[in-house]
Formats: sequence, structure tokens, C-alpha cells
Amino acid sequence: MTAEQIQAFFATLRAANPHPVTELEYTNVFELLTAVLLSAQATDVGVNKATRRLFAVANTPQKMLALGLEGLEGHIRTIGLYRSKARHLMQTCRILVEQHGGEVPRTREALEALPGVGRKTANVVLNVAFGEPTMAVDTHIFRVSNRTGLAPGKNPLAVEQQLLRRVPPAYRVDAHHWLILLGRYVCQARKPRCWECAVASFCDFKPKTPAP
Ligand code: SF4
Repeated sequence: MTAEQIQAFFATLRAANPHPVTELEYTNVFELLTAVLLSAQATDVGVNKATRRLFAVANTPQKMLALGLEGLEGHIRTIGLYRSKARHLMQTCRILVEQHGGEVPRTREALEALPGVGRKTANVVLNVAFGEPTMAVDTHIFRVSNRTGLAPGKNPLAVEQQLLRRVPPAYRVDAHHWLILLGRYVCQARKPRCWECAVASFCDFKPKTPAP
């Protein structure tokens, strides 16, 4: 994709959805961190279903610790890998209370030092909670970036770095939401829905999928 095509690609996505938001439900930064930590290899819908009940009783690290490991597991049993996620979340809560006054830290370094929090989770929190222009490259963004020619790369970090170079500054804060939504609903893994894709004329992928 050329710079002009990239500009038009994001202008089109923004026109269709000026204020994209994450589909994970949360009401404070700790809830967001928890939801993202739980969402690895799980759907947002499945995470939301569990966290609606969980956050009603534990929406701070202190309350999560008071719930205890078994109590937490009981709430997230329906989510894949729940045992290790529960363990990581309890360890993370302990560090938040002991080292950060019960708050979620704002730096990448401190976020990535939390158990269960990798680069992608840190990128989501920095972007969604703190408005930083980070690119949290998940499976959808990785696929869309490569397929369209927007930001090709062999691994998520290479794609992230390409996106940071190639996405125009005006679109950087919201870019990762638009790309996730495009990948989730239109540019799907097995069969991209090119016939109804708003950005088809700017995308390098060939041949485009014809209408069924
Ligand atoms: S035209 Fe097809 S391949 Fe390109 S972004 Fe749209 S759905 Fe994906």
C-alpha cells in the first residue's frame, strides 16, 4: 500500500466509525487490565460474560485478593486457561497493592513486569486507558496488516513496528481498534468478505473474494 492508500484506508475506517472502542466491558483501569489479561485465547463475549459477575464483587486489586484464588477461579471457570490466568491475576493484584498503591501503572516497563501481562496486554492498557498511540497486535491485526499490505511483518513485533512507522499520526491512537474490528467482522481469517469491504480499493490482497 502506498502512503496515499494508507491515508485513504484509515480515513474510510474513521468515517464509518469515528470513535471505535474495545468490545471488552470495563469501568475502571483495573477492570480493563483484568479483562485483557483474561482475554488471551478467549473471545471478548466470553470474557464479558464472566467479568460482569466478577466485577460486581471485585473491581479493585484489594477486593480481588480478598476473593481468594478459589473464589476467583469460580468466576472465570468458563474462560480458557482459567487456572493459570487466575494465578497470574492474584500475583498481579498483590504487586499492584504492594508496589503501586493499588493503581495500575502507566509505563510499559511496570506493566510488563506484572505476571500474565505481555507486550500486547501492555499495549492495550496504554492505548485504551491512557490514550497512547500503541499497536496491540493480536491475531486479527497481524493478519489484516499482512494481507492488505498495510504493514507486513513475520511476527507480531515486526508488524507493530511497521504500523508505528506507516500509520499516519492522526490515526495512530484508534488504528488498532479499527484493524481489530475489520479483521473480526470483514477481513476474516478463512474467507475475507472483500465484496462488502469498505477499504477494498486501497487493499493489495488479490484476488479479492467475489460476492457469494
Ligand atoms: S478487500 Fe478483502 S482482503 Fe482487503 S481488507 Fe477488505 S476483506 Fe480484507
